[in-house]
Amino acid sequence: MPRRELIGRPAAPGVALGPLVRLGGAFVPRRTAGSADQERAALTAAIEAAVADLAELAEQAGGDAAEILEFQIAMLEDEALRDPALSAIAAGAAADAAWVESLGFQVAEYEAAEDAYFQARAADLRDLSERVLRHLLGTAEEPAFPPGAIVLADDITPSRFLAADWREGGGIALAAGSKASHVAMLARARGVPMVVGLGPIAAEGHARAALDGAAGRLWLSPDAADEARLAALAADAREAGRAAADVLHRPAVTASGQRVLVQINVADPSELDGLDPALCDGIGLTRTELCFPASGALPDEESQYGQYRRIVEWAAGRPVTIRTLDAGGDKPIAGLTVPGESNPFLGLRGVRLSLVRPEVFSVQLRALARAAVHGELKVMVPMITVPEELEATRALLDAAMADLAARALPARRPALGMMVEVPAAALAIERFDAAFFSIGSNDLTQYVTASARDIGAVAGLADVTNPAVLRLIAEVAAHGARIGREVSLCGDAAGEVSLVPALLDAGITSLSMAPNAVGPVKAAIARYG
Ligand code: PEP
Ligand code: MG
Repeated sequence: MPRRELIGRPAAPGVALGPLVRLGGAFVPRRTAGSADQERAALTAAIEAAVADLAELAEQAGGDAAEILEFQIAMLEDEALRDPALSAIAAGAAADAAWVESLGFQVAEYEAAEDAYFQARAADLRDLSERVLRHLLGTAEEPAFPPGAIVLADDITPSRFLAADWREGGGIALAAGSKASHVAMLARARGVPMVVGLGPIAAEGHARAALDGAAGRLWLSPDAADEARLAALAADAREAGRAAADVLHRPAVTASGQRVLVQINVADPSELDGLDPALCDGIGLTRTELCFPASGALPDEESQYGQYRRIVEWAAGRPVTIRTLDAGGDKPIAGLTVPGESNPFLGLRGVRLSLVRPEVFSVQLRALARAAVHGELKVMVPMITVPEELEATRALLDAAMADLAARALPARRPALGMMVEVPAAALAIERFDAAFFSIGSNDLTQYVTASARDIGAVAGLADVTNPAVLRLIAEVAAHGARIGREVSLCGDAAGEVSLVPALLDAGITSLSMAPNAVGPVKAAIARYG
């Protein structure tokens, strides 16, 4: 195939070269057709298994989500849905090809419908098609990407990213997507190069690709010159990495001698494996929603306690800030978040959702109070908009402590702090009696600039250096200094070398970032002032 170069926007730096894998792309049949009876039995069993999955999910989910799942069960049990596939099987087709092709026709019919209600049902059908196919092929979950692959997709969910193994390299190229999405953040944290906003990509026939995350470029069927250039870029990056490594294990201090705390952001305790705690002053943000599976049962108190304890023990006495669930927005959790909100970033997300589901929130607060026995654990509440939300959380924490005491379980009351990421909180920060504050610059920027963090077309406006955003950051920092409470900043801006001077100018003295940004940011702090 002739080489093609595509230009998108940088989302995570680094270079990758490898086999190209199209996600959600054309279906490739994998079964060899047996007898018509065998294929019919295989399809029927796969449909029954999918119905059983959905019934279990519906029972766990309850509410609106259960209704949607029950609707899907009814669709799947409708004989009219499977009849075309059964006819194709009778004519000699393998069960997987028969199912996917017949459902494909029905999806296309729904998509072409005039009525928006029927159009929206196409997504349900697609979901059902994939679920039954997974059972037919014996892959319980989405097929994994081959190691080292460059994954091409319209967009990709955080749970899909987390399910993949990136240790052998690889990269992500998205037709849509945004640098401010959670997947981009995860990609930066794991050192997975990523380019977004490439637009529709016709990649048929291309088997290999190369990606330069920092330049926002993708090459399909790269030539020898591309490969040589990327190898040189990778060597430069290693050199810059060595410079950062010099300061990596030293406390961060500016040229004029001011100490700056450098903490790390984590999503999942397994990210800490192989990481030396001495590289940081602690953990400034744990995004617990990413430890919750995107679907299936919510983790119980015991398993949450185990995960939080593992993080606190890794830190070996350093402070560990664990944020309570920030589900919603671009982090849906089946059975918990509200499906179909017209604007999920302005809806029931973060503490708003936790407070309407106190039975879920209390489990997390109890697990946190139990883990606090093992180190310096602090609890941080996301999306606080009014003081009443912080106070309601405090009351639930009181109740959690009482509950644990009644069960005679060891527990310690953690300090209760808040994220400052909603303009209403940042603008009137003196109203909030939090033990500490952490500025969520990702959300603060999207809400102040009215530019969604997951819409590439407005990425230029979602700029943390907008004077309005920087002014709010400076005011929150000044408030913390005045009343003697810590203010840190844990949004992606904290890990951007080029933003270090602006954030320190604004009075920030504590930054929390992806682990791989620690070296370069410490080096930038050393050059400041
Ligand atoms: C933020 O909004 O800056 C933040 C740290 O929270 P999240 O990115 O998880 O929404
Ligand atoms: Mg946020």
